[in-house]
Amino acid sequence: MPDPLNPTPAPHVFHPLSDRMKYKTILLFGAPGAGKGTQGKILGTIPGHFHCACGDVFRNLRIDDPMGRLFVEYAGKGQLVPDEQTIGLWRKNIQGVSLNGAFNPERDWLVLDGIPRNPHQVEMLRDTLDVRAVFWLTCSDMNKMVERLQRRALRENRLDDANLDVIKQRLEVYKNETKSVLECYDPKLVHEIDSTQSPLAVLREILEIIARLKAAGS
Ligand code: ADP
Repeated sequence: MPDPLNPTPAPHVFHPLSDRMKYKTILLFGAPGAGKGTQGKILGTIPGHFHCACGDVFRNLRIDDPMGRLFVEYAGKGQLVPDEQTIGLWRKNIQGVSLNGAFNPERDWLVLDGIPRNPHQVEMLRDTLDVRAVFWLTCSDMNKMVERLQRRALRENRLDDANLDVIKQRLEVYKNETKSVLECYDPKLVHEIDSTQSPLAVLREILEIIARLKAAGS
């Protein structure tokens, strides 16, 4: 007889810390405006993949939620939200999508964009993520990135990208805090991709690598 106070979890519900299983993960990495979101959204439509953009998790909060207010405070200045709160919110979100069945950790690869965003976040997620590949979208043309961010600000009503000073601050944070995330992973996992190519060309490079990894049973 099932105990209603202590229900047996559904088989797809995943507890990475308790059963030591980790999420099979692809990281999309690069400066703001490099195109992580564009690629992530497409990859997330492929069966067997689940896309999670940390910025979207924040943006989906209600403004009267204390975390929502914290996000507006930090993102409005182009700064990162503190790590403890960010990782806590992210864990809650990923548990939610596992519970509602949108993400099935036993079947799906997690496509992460915007997290981990500094070496401390890498450490905090070490026991949760099994990183199979890091796609580093590079863009040598700063002007192109600024232009993309400003276009997106208008299209998606993103306040953090509308102001040139905030954009500059976000690019600084990427250089000073985020870029060193790359050094936290085995160089064999890191694939550098020129993001000044068309989205289609970038996608083709990413898909070729994922297909190879999956064929090799990674
Ligand atoms: P982009 O896609 O342009 O890089 P995001 O949507 O990922 O931007 O992030 C927008 C803002 O959300 C960041 O400037 C930061 O304030 C906050 N944020 C998103 N992800 C993280 C994270 N992992 N750690 C801390 N802050 C984050």
